Amino acid sequence: MRISVIGCGYLGAVHAASMAKLGHDVVAVDVDPTKIERLAAGEAPFFEPGLPEILDEALGSGRIRFTTDMAEVAGAQVHFLAVGTPQGPTGAADLRYVDAAMASLTPYVSAGQFVVGKSTVPVGTAARLGADLSAAVPGATLVWNPEFLREGFAVQDTISPDRFVYGVPEGEDGQRAVAALDEVYETALAEGTPRLVVDLATAELVKISANAFLATKISFINAMAEIAEVVGADVTALADAIGHDARIGRKFLNAGLGFGGGCLPKDIRAFQARADELGVGESLAFLADVDATNLRRRAHVVELAQEMLGGAVAGKRVAVLGLAFKPNSDDVRDSPALDIAARLLGLGATVAAYDPEAVVTARRVHPELDYAETATDALTGADLVLVLTEWNEFRELDPAAVASLVASPVVIDGRNCLDREAWRAAGFTYRGMGR
Ligand code: NAD
Repeated sequence: MRISVIGCGYLGAVHAASMAKLGHDVVAVDVDPTKIERLAAGEAPFFEPGLPEILDEALGSGRIRFTTDMAEVAGAQVHFLAVGTPQGPTGAADLRYVDAAMASLTPYVSAGQFVVGKSTVPVGTAARLGADLSAAVPGATLVWNPEFLREGFAVQDTISPDRFVYGVPEGEDGQRAVAALDEVYETALAEGTPRLVVDLATAELVKISANAFLATKISFINAMAEIAEVVGADVTALADAIGHDARIGRKFLNAGLGFGGGCLPKDIRAFQARADELGVGESLAFLADVDATNLRRRAHVVELAQEMLGGAVAGKRVAVLGLAFKPNSDDVRDSPALDIAARLLGLGATVAAYDPEAVVTARRVHPELDYAETATDALTGADLVLVLTEWNEFRELDPAAVASLVASPVVIDGRNCLDREAWRAAGFTYRGMGR
């Protein structure tokens, strides 16, 4: 099929390359010429495992091209919309990129074609955009097909997702849209991937409510961590025990620094803002607590660092291991790790920060931090070690070797990812989260 993808960020670049891998003929558009140049040269503009390989394969097959010229999308049967929906100043989603992309795409859409939204948008957006599209291009149809990929597993999640959700309008147009998307996703559907066909509003809500649920689950266990810390209980053992209950499940019950990234934080805020607009703000009032619990984790780690350094961090050398919001990603959008590093610097600490992949992205946001080339460089002479992103490289550190590098063997395990006993055996004063 001839496909276009508008927006080549974390979602769109992976989607475009994956669609080419599946055999489709893809044109991918972005307004950022540097990004397009890099992608066209076969270089992934961000770290995502597996992306360089499928990008190479797609370019080699001649089935993908990258451009800044929207006119090149003309003739594609399905146009995927994958631009950003960041948080605006009030907390609501900023839809300017979606609106601008639709405005520049619409002149190149023809009757019988489909615009397929993948971005995470406030409920009601698809109906509005769909009405505008139908008015401008009679016979063109807008549908919403939310994306559930996880950064770090984006290629696998795009090619073999755990479900498809198609939000389509009623009637024949909707049925034709289902048929078109079934053709796009033929390979995964043939493997038995569930596919749910719903109305536009439900599709928008499925995405945002899934993220609200995940955020709530993380803040729930972090709230338990706060209590465990006061009473001397172990939140990890608690999570293991409640996680055996199939109704609860163990996933997303790791206490730590909380969630960050380009999705969960802004999505729960946008969801609350939209519910307020709709007059049902009370239904989502709990998300304010979810957000507050999440943000308290960062403040807690900063306080713990002060306490472990004898009351003040000023003048102390602190090794920060991890800057990305999660491992296997270079994404530092709303990253708890980077936020803590910056706060410690603000309190007068000398911060030596290291991340296997996220130094370049972190430097763009916080150029004032000292970035180390290796974990060893960051650790050398440190008065305190903070592990803030659970990369395998940090899990696998030999605590005895680390002890020989640091000035003082004190560690805060912000992700409960280290072997506590091994670190204590190597002479470290160890503090985890909620244990
Ligand atoms: P991103 O910021 O990495 O990428 C957005 C891209 O859109 C940028 O490259 C930008 O230059 C481009 N763009 C902006 N305006 C444009 C226009 N008018 N025409 C063409 N391109 C334009 O964002 P992202 O992380 O890829 O997220 C995109 C959307 O997908 C968001 O709504 C997000 O919530 C959602 N989403 C993201 C993920 C994820 O893990 N990153 C997962 C599921 C859903």
